[in-house]
Amino acid sequence: MRVIVLGAGVIGTTSAYYLAKAGHEVTVVERRDGPALETSFANAGGICPGFAGPWAAPGMPAKLARWLLARQAPVALRPRLDPQQWRWLLRFLGNCRVDRFRRNKARMQRIAHYSKACLTELCAETAIAFDHGTGGVLQLLRTEQELAGAANAVKVLAAFDVPHRLLDRQGVLAVEPALQGAAVHFAGGLHLPGDETGDCHKFTRALAELLQGRGVSFRFATRVSGIRTDGGRVSAIVTDADPLAADAYVVALGSATAPLLRHVGIDLPIYPVKGYSFTADLDPNTPAPRSSVMDEHHKVMITRMGTRIRAAGAAEIAGYDLTVREAGAATVLASLRELFPRIVPTATAWAGLRPMTPDGPPYLGATALANLFVNVGHGSNGWTQACGCGRIVADIVLGRRPEIDMEGYDVGR
Ligand SMILES: Cc1cc2nc3c(=O)[nH]c(=O)nc-3n(C[C@H](O)[C@H](O)[C@H](O)COP(=O)(O)OP(=O)(O)OC[C@H]3O[C@@H](n4cnc5c(N)ncnc54)[C@H](O)[C@@H]3O)c2cc1C
Repeated sequence: MRVIVLGAGVIGTTSAYYLAKAGHEVTVVERRDGPALETSFANAGGICPGFAGPWAAPGMPAKLARWLLARQAPVALRPRLDPQQWRWLLRFLGNCRVDRFRRNKARMQRIAHYSKACLTELCAETAIAFDHGTGGVLQLLRTEQELAGAANAVKVLAAFDVPHRLLDRQGVLAVEPALQGAAVHFAGGLHLPGDETGDCHKFTRALAELLQGRGVSFRFATRVSGIRTDGGRVSAIVTDADPLAADAYVVALGSATAPLLRHVGIDLPIYPVKGYSFTADLDPNTPAPRSSVMDEHHKVMITRMGTRIRAAGAAEIAGYDLTVREAGAATVLASLRELFPRIVPTATAWAGLRPMTPDGPPYLGATALANLFVNVGHGSNGWTQACGCGRIVADIVLGRRPEIDMEGYDVGR
């Protein structure tokens, strides 16, 4: 089969890997000059099946109300005259119920653990380098209140069989000694030793290079502007170069997916949620995390990537605008300065749009158009879920049964 993958982020590139591995002739169409130059470029680097779960959770509406009134907070809402924004928000709030949270968490856990196993296999097969770390993730709990609140998180982790350790201050310092120099107090932490880290951009770029060597064609600097249909099927995609035709099409356009698919009657409630990151080249003598610290207070993740450190977080519900806003970027910087005061960013702030579904899990597989498939809506977990979702969608395109239960990932849910 000839398959066109739309988008060369981490999701499109892993989809291309599994499709090519299955023997398909694959072309990837990407508007940027290379792979992973949008949301997959400078994320927090967490490959975190242990923490994978929806943002829509019980207690979130109250937290949101508090954060929206604060001057500096992990979440900001810029209301727009955009019905998609309001529809997404209403659905998000509707998913904050206990029963829906449990259901959505289970769906995300299933896919994230499967994805980690797929990544391990892919690494063994390709030997690509991407500053892969296997030192786990430490959730830092600053106050006694945050530590007490972790009891709930522990119950959820136990329910999903995720290995974890609740730590006091000394335990935290044993895992991440550089926190000794923190400028703020912390009470303890929750360590998930099974979670991993890595540079999503390096991974995607290396995988794309390897795929080009295996005959996959990457058409960079080519924007998809429309989809032509004929009798319930896609007949071609319209680009700013020639129209391109294939037997099957996989959409992996991240946050750009929803507006494009709406033109062909496929209405997915994916909305962009902007986040920021800062990257620092490390001086070997600077105290820095060994692996990854999730600062629960600011909701910022600080991760080692070889000789660099990346701090990432903040959530702005503000449409497709990529402007760096002072308050959001300041939250990320505040976390870095408070926990690792001697690390100074060596690059300016980066902004990316998480393609968020209101309930959490991505949309995977078939659509109303017979030869059009989606691998979209991975939100804040796209790097964690990439290999598993790539493999699942390749299996579906091939007509093979995916290896995990597919309940809850369909576009019609
Ligand atoms: C601050 C931040 C921190 C994050 N931290 C983590 C983390 O620690 N762990 C984790 O698992 N996830 C994390 N994420 C989420 C993760 O980065 C995303 O889920 C993932 O990158 C989405 O990948 P994608 O391929 O779907 O989207 P993208 O990387 O955006 O790829 C889509 C591609 O489609 C292309 N495209 C769009 N429109 C067109 C068009 N019309 N024609 C041609 N090409 C087009 C784009 O140029 C882009 O290359 C984070 C995100 C942010 C913003």
